[in-house]
Amino acid sequence: DYRSGGYHPVKTGEVYYGRYLILQKIGFGYFSTVWLCNDLNSNLKVALKIQKSDRNYTDAAMDEIEIVSKIHRNYTHPKWSFGEKTHIVKVLNHFMHKGPFGRHVCMAFELLGCNMISLMKFYDFKGIPVKISVEILKQSLIALDYLHRICGVIHTDIKPENILFSLNEEQEKEVEKTGKIENWIPMIEERTLRWPTEEEIAQQEMEKNNKKCKNTKRAMKKERENKRKCERMQRRGIVKVIVPIENVVRKFDVNFQVKIVDFGNACWMHKHFSNEIQTLHYRSPEVILGIPYNQTADCWSLGCVFYELLVGCYLFDPKSGNNNNAEFELLCQICEIFGDSCFFWGLKGRNASKYLTSGGRLRATHLVPRSLKKEFESRGISPVDSPYIEEFLLKLIAPNPQHRITAFECLSNPFFRRYFN
Ligand code: ADP
Ligand code: MG
Repeated sequence: DYRSGGYHPVKTGEVYYGRYLILQKIGFGYFSTVWLCNDLNSNLKVALKIQKSDRNYTDAAMDEIEIVSKIHRNYTHPKWSFGEKTHIVKVLNHFMHKGPFGRHVCMAFELLGCNMISLMKFYDFKGIPVKISVEILKQSLIALDYLHRICGVIHTDIKPENILFSLNEEQEKEVEKTGKIENWIPMIEERTLRWPTEEEIAQQEMEKNNKKCKNTKRAMKKERENKRKCERMQRRGIVKVIVPIENVVRKFDVNFQVKIVDFGNACWMHKHFSNEIQTLHYRSPEVILGIPYNQTADCWSLGCVFYELLVGCYLFDPKSGNNNNAEFELLCQICEIFGDSCFFWGLKGRNASKYLTSGGRLRATHLVPRSLKKEFESRGISPVDSPYIEEFLLKLIAPNPQHRITAFECLSNPFFRRYFN
């Protein structure tokens, strides 16, 4: 994509706008490359986003600048109670840069850490501890509530790549010292209990029984029974017992902050720029069916992200290459959770006839019902937590946007009280 209209070729050591010294590449997206820079004026480290130069990308960047600058000024709004903690990235500056492939919009942002893909990778795509996932969800919901209720903005591209960790003071100092940024990952010490070995159980039982009955024959029989019980459990894969999360969460504070970035596709609640929004895997059914979307489209995407954090793979994963087929596959997968009549409200949609029968059912043949609760449990989430997580997630991904929970409603949901004091 380094061609006319595409990415600008950036080299470390170059200085942009007379003040931003390029140190290291830290990210890229479909629209841009992002660089760690030393701001020679303030001597602070910043992230410089350099947009592709094509007209469409430039327009998107101008919208991004307008939206992010407006968003930034709203945190004194009387309806907003979290002050500066909006969980939205701060924009510091913007300018144009002329390069061999055209004119590029450049935006300087406060420097943040790695995105949620790096976090998932760190956990080997096997799921992130519940407490961390729920904290990320909560902070992202605060960001969405601020965007929707206070700013009237829909992000439209919520996905793991666009949720980033903030740097803490220690990490900022480290960047200052080394001029490099690393993937700092918050970890939680999740206390796990080892299931005792067969010998240990037999030993324990023997001791117990020996106290109760002096008859060694009975004790031996009991021992054999225990051994068999252990073998059965191990065959069923129960080798590790995770302490129910309530016992753990109060012990470990998770001190990190995430922020939402990338307003290149954002729009106003009263003025949409496009009917086609969201990255495929995080695309809500109303967008596919062609029903006007609202701010809860972001809640849908965040629900998909929450599942992905917990489980380590996409909630919906259409595999077809062709866009229409992929969207149909996505609708099928939604019906595997909610049933094939869950789109009755979408019959009036621009694309409804492509996907729905006149009775409002999805034109699908074999759907395999899914239980999210079971999927959570198979990834090691305790059955104490799984029903609550499932219940909350189903509210975020309610197929009908009119029934979907808003970010504001989410934040007062008792669900979060389970995890935070
Ligand atoms: P695009 O519009 O091209 O997707 P993004 O704004 O999403 O651009 O940025 C692309 C990537 O660059 C992000 O996924 C993230 O990894 C990194 N990035 C973006 N903004 C920052 C920032 N302020 N600090 C650190 N890294 C960032
Ligand atoms: Mg992005």
